[in-house]
Amino acid sequence: MDSEETNKNWIKFIGTAGARFVVAKQLRSSGGLWLSFQGVNLYLDPGPGALVRCLASKPKLDPTKLDGILLSHKHLDHSGDINAMIEAMTEGGYRRRGVLFTPDDALEEDPVIFRYVRSYVDQIEVLKENGNYSVGGLKFSTAGRHIHSVETYGFNFYLSGLTVSYIPDTKFYPQLLSQYPGELLIMNVVLLTEPQHPIDHLSLPDVKEILKKCRAKTVVLTHFGMRMLQAKPWEAAERLSQETGLKVIAARDGMTLEINEVMGC
Ligand SMILES: [Zn+2]
Repeated sequence: MDSEETNKNWIKFIGTAGARFVVAKQLRSSGGLWLSFQGVNLYLDPGPGALVRCLASKPKLDPTKLDGILLSHKHLDHSGDINAMIEAMTEGGYRRRGVLFTPDDALEEDPVIFRYVRSYVDQIEVLKENGNYSVGGLKFSTAGRHIHSVETYGFNFYLSGLTVSYIPDTKFYPQLLSQYPGELLIMNVVLLTEPQHPIDHLSLPDVKEILKKCRAKTVVLTHFGMRMLQAKPWEAAERLSQETGLKVIAARDGMTLEINEVMGC
């Protein structure tokens, strides 16, 4: 990889589907995100279809180039392809490499990571709340444990001169506002409106609250549930942009976000 490439930071939204119905019907692709930060390649939340969509991407994304795989939590829409991606990253287990970052309950209780693939990776790091981690020189941290039905953590990635924050599934809680200081903020927004019954996901009204207080300049919404999708996320993003003065983008399947370009740095 040349130095120009290693200086580039980008995120590819392999899939933007959230929650059961959108994933089961593949109304949007599922599969999570490929992160390329300062020459370090990470796969975040490899949901169903991650491997197929990487290989079908143009240009093709090669899993053997990954330095690690991150799992925010073990729900199927985030973890469905995690074993397939571990095998792909390690060339079927014949080339031991990469780091797997995962909550403990994805390994221990009703595990989603097969025991036999665990030896394929160089290292397994169990995520804790407010933990500090690094891979290939890239530093990142977890925030507090989310309010979600399984153990769930979001991430702050520290690039030179810029923080990128990722808020995966959670019910809204006030500390969220201070835990994700990224100038670029990626949020999973499953719900269009506040749910009548308690569901541990963020809604569009929650997002408005977060955007009023956050430090982000650019916000990307992704992981859409059914009603959110029917309400046209790109129109919701446009309204949020007008209301908050921030750049709010609704992710599309296959979208590549060139970070230095979108942040003007
Ligand atoms: Zn979840």
